[in-house]
This record gives sequence, structure tokens and C-alpha cells, in this order.
Amino acid sequence: MKAIVVHEFGGPEVLKLDEVPTPKPAAGQVLVRVHAVGVNPYDAYMRNGTYAVKPPLPYTPGSDGAGVIEAVGPGVTKVKSGDRVYMAKTVTGAYAEYAIALESQVHPLPAKASFSQGAGVWVPYGTAYHGLYHSAKARASETVLIHGASGGVGIAGVQLTRASGLTVFGTASSQKGLDLAQREGAHQVFDHSKSGYLDEIMKATGGRGVDIILEMLANVNLASDMKLLATNGRIIVIGSRGEIAINPRDLMARRGSIRAFTLWAITATEEAEIHAGIVAGLENGTLRPVVGKEMPLAEAARAHKEILEPGAAGKIVLVT
Ligand code: NAP
Repeated sequence: MKAIVVHEFGGPEVLKLDEVPTPKPAAGQVLVRVHAVGVNPYDAYMRNGTYAVKPPLPYTPGSDGAGVIEAVGPGVTKVKSGDRVYMAKTVTGAYAEYAIALESQVHPLPAKASFSQGAGVWVPYGTAYHGLYHSAKARASETVLIHGASGGVGIAGVQLTRASGLTVFGTASSQKGLDLAQREGAHQVFDHSKSGYLDEIMKATGGRGVDIILEMLANVNLASDMKLLATNGRIIVIGSRGEIAINPRDLMARRGSIRAFTLWAITATEEAEIHAGIVAGLENGTLRPVVGKEMPLAEAARAHKEILEPGAAGKIVLVT
């Protein structure tokens, strides 16, 4: 089979399309014929060798994908050959024509969702769900700012909060991204590349501030986020690419809090809740992963360059 293999850490050019043996599922494992692969920013950090998780070399990247069960190993009862599934982590890596996953890592992909949409489920929706409901304890009637609403996690956050009865503000830096966030449910959108947009957000709350901020770029926004909070507001740090100085008094004055997490470290119970919520949302059409761009697997290097560039508009997906 064809698979992307990283033999050394480095720039996008280290993503090589190799011919490798198709793996066989052991007990408790399944073999998935992967049709679509979700590209996430962490795939690029990991490939660079600068991420908290550093896999032994060589490795095939990717935790997110969707396809059809090709074969199951001994003892597998949850799925059978021919079932459509999305993957939430794998054993052998999703950037490949076939991937081995644990039985517990595959979940039913409802007929409403295409394979490319299924590839945009796990990291984006898992992260948004965990940030909103486990970390921020979001409640209907609250106001949420999705700071970075045009990308994978942001669109998931917009759909989840709009469906749950929150007032949703979203930001993006391109017209395409702003339109997308609005189309997917944001009540109001703001351009985070324009000066003065934070004042506009505060004005839109009538001066009260927002209850929750899902923050995609904390090293840029954390200090100003603290000034946007309503009393008892919560900032959830999802993405950060460096350091920032903050004034804790801005938090004290608002009884605010900052929480942060990585999806790798959530508990099995939290993960089970997330998948139950996601599958229900995919089935009833509340959750509709937005595929911004599809590319062949061979163009993984281009995908890794583009995932870190501004102007996001949904997911970048590799098709096999
Ligand atoms: P993505 O699809 O590439 O989207 C990136 C988002 O960040 C876009 O909406 C982009 O908006 C926005 N952004 C860029 N500059 C910004 C700024 N100055 N202020 C606010 N937002 C800004 O990435 P993603 O998959 O949504 O992930 C978002 C971030 O969360 C990444 O840093 C990722 O590594 C991190 N993440 C963390 C976890 C975790 O476990 N903690 C899980 C998933 C993702 P424009 O392109 O429109 O400017």
C-alpha cells in the first residue's frame, strides 16, 4: 500500500510517499481502508520534532481519518467488514491507504457524512466539545467568543454552541472565513486582523463581556482576552505557538479563569461522552464538518504548508 512515511524530523519535504506492506490486524484491532485523512496543525508540529509527543522514527502521521472496515482481528465485536467508520487515533497512522486502529478507536460514520467529512471529526470536534462542555461547562444563554472560528476546531465550536443555545461570536481574517463562520452559525463575526475588532466585540455584548472564549492563538490574544471577559468568564486555551505576558489583575477583577488542555490527556470517560455527542450530532445534521480543500495523499507536504497559513476555511483533507 501507499503511505506517507517520515524518516527524519524536518520541514514538509520529509513527508515521503512510500510503498509499504499492508498491515494485518491483531487481536482487538481492525484494518481500515482509509478514504480520507484529516490534516491537523499538530501533524506539522510533530513532523518538525518540536511537539510534546515525539514518535519514534520512521512513522506515518495522522490520528484522523475515515473509511471502511476491511478486516477485523480476533475478538473484535463492535464493527465488521464493510462498516463505514471515522477514526479517532490509530496504531499505524492515518496518512495511508490502510491503517490499523484499535477497536475502541473506530466509531460509526453516519450515512449523512462523507468520508472527507469523517476525516474532519476527531481532533476538531473532540477538542471543541471538550473545551466547551468539560472545561468551560458551557450553558445555554451564555455568550461565547470563538477566537479563530474559520478553521477545523473553530467551525466545530460554532456548530456546537449554536445548537446548544449560546450567543456565538466568531473571528477570522479572510472574507471567506468570516462568511463560513457566519453560515455555520455565528450570530456575529469579527475580523481579527483589523485593529479595533476587540472593541467591537465588547460593544456587541453591550459592555458586559463574553462568558466563554475558545482561544486558538493564546500567545497573541490571551492578555486582551482577559479584558473581554464577563464576570465569572472562562478562557479555554486551545492553541498557542509561543509566550505572552499577562496581567493577572484583569482576571481578578472579573473573577475569571483560564483553563487549558491537550486532547491527548483526556480521560476514557470524557472520550466516550465526546463520541456519543459527536455521533448524535452527525446523525441529526447538527454537526457538519466543513471540507475546505481536498488533496491527494501524495500532496501531504503542500497540506502541511497550508495548514499553518492564515485564511483558513474549514478542513484540509487528503484523499487516498
Ligand atoms: P486551523 O484549521 O488551521 O485554523 C486555525 C484558526 O486559527 C483559524 O480560524 C485562523 O483564522 C485562526 N487564527 C489565526 N490567527 C489568529 C489570531 N490572531 N487570533 C485568533 N485566531 C487566529 O487549525 P485548528 O485545527 O482549528 O486548530 C487551531 C489551533 O488549536 C491550532 O494552534 C492547533 O494546534 C490547536 N489545537 C489544539 C488542540 C489541543 O488539544 N489543545 C487540539 C486541536 C487543535 P484565519 O485563518 O481566518 O486567520
